[in-house]
Amino acid sequence: MTVCIIGGGASGMMAALTAAEQGHQVLLLERQARVGRKLLATGNGRCNLTNHYAAPEYYHDHYHGQQADFCAYALSAFDVGSTLQWFAQRGLLTTAEDSGRVYPYSNMAGSVLDVLRYALEQPNIDLRTGATVKRIRHKGEDFTVETEDDTIHADKVILAAGGTAGSKVGGVMDGYQLAKHLGHHRTALFPSLVQLKTDPTYPRSLKGVKAEAEIRIMQAGQTLAVNRGEILFTEYGVSGPAIFELSRVVSCGGEGLDVVLDFLPDWDEQATQDWLRQRQEAAGTREAGTLLAGTLHSRLGQMLCKAAGFTSQCTATLSDWDLKGIAQQLRHFTLPILGTCGFDQAQVTAGGLRTDEFDPQTMESRLVPGFYACGEVLDIDGDCGGYNLQWAWSSGHLAGQLLSASH
Ligand SMILES: Cc1cc2nc3c(=O)[nH]c(=O)nc-3n(C[C@H](O)[C@H](O)[C@H](O)COP(=O)(O)OP(=O)(O)OC[C@H]3O[C@@H](n4cnc5c(N)ncnc54)[C@H](O)[C@@H]3O)c2cc1C
Repeated sequence: MTVCIIGGGASGMMAALTAAEQGHQVLLLERQARVGRKLLATGNGRCNLTNHYAAPEYYHDHYHGQQADFCAYALSAFDVGSTLQWFAQRGLLTTAEDSGRVYPYSNMAGSVLDVLRYALEQPNIDLRTGATVKRIRHKGEDFTVETEDDTIHADKVILAAGGTAGSKVGGVMDGYQLAKHLGHHRTALFPSLVQLKTDPTYPRSLKGVKAEAEIRIMQAGQTLAVNRGEILFTEYGVSGPAIFELSRVVSCGGEGLDVVLDFLPDWDEQATQDWLRQRQEAAGTREAGTLLAGTLHSRLGQMLCKAAGFTSQCTATLSDWDLKGIAQQLRHFTLPILGTCGFDQAQVTAGGLRTDEFDPQTMESRLVPGFYACGEVLDIDGDCGGYNLQWAWSSGHLAGQLLSASH
């Protein structure tokens, strides 16, 4: 049987290798000059290829979509253990962090891509790069797949064209459009795992400063989501993994959102107040803006005092009420959110092909028998930390088995 796979990313390579193992003749079409370009950019070049918490019992916490349980079958059928074993059999050594994040032992995304590329070098896989698929046609039991300069006949087609996130490394809308011609629909798309844009006044002056904080996304006094971790101030707002993890809530949250930062989350209000009073006594006649020197990054400390209204006046003149104002900034520093950055900066596309139009136990289309989809092109997205690649491996492995409920 001839299987045509569209997209040589994480899920497409996994699907191709699985289909070849079943003895099928595989044609893998990739529009870019080489396969796995996005994979090389993952995990800041280290490739966080999976996460031990991507086990099915935790999937509710880590995967999203209009029907998030769609991912459960694939994630259990080819789970984290099977994935790591699969890679180990092809020579990839890995190492895990306490957070469950798994990286190649070499700390190089190129190692993950290397083992996949070498595995693709086999007689029943025909890899064609620089081949952009323009149209898939389906007639009877056959498919024709059209590229700019070729028309290919196939018995089955697997769409692994990814999402539109990470456009600098190859994210495009093609997958949705190709599926649409076959009668499929998609949900609304929005960028996820992406930086937040806020009122830039304070972040701009703190550009490059990092701080540990508890981060709350608030709307009209209600907490929509909370996270903890390192944040990075940028020219346009805030960034960092802990912020990325909240970006989905911001994309879906509508208007009037604030990000509220607590720079001393383990302290109670009284301890904060006592600390500031101690610092005041020690500071004597120094400028009020230096009150938080030694507590936080100096630029951040000065900025919080400034946000409370104090810069050059003498610390000794600050009243209890003034110290309360500084404590308020230290514990509830509020930035109005303007939105998220776009798909070019995002790590993943939230939304995608409607999963009710596919069978979760095979990844086969319910509308077009013999047509399969896997990876990010579907309406499943995961949290930061290796969850998206695990979805790509699991769904690609399932699709590559070319199971069919109709046969
Ligand atoms: C900067 C960045 C960092 C990331 N870091 C991580 C991480 O550390 N851990 C993690 O789990 N996830 C990470 N992700 C997300 C993860 O990379 C993706 O979710 C995953 O690669 C999706 O796999 P996929 O196979 O569905 O799509 P992709 O890997 O995007 O592959 C799709 C392929 O299809 C090709 N294609 C598209 N249209 C056509 C067409 N018409 N014809 C032929 N080929 C086509 C594309 O060129 C592409 O190569 C990161 C993403 C980015 C952008």
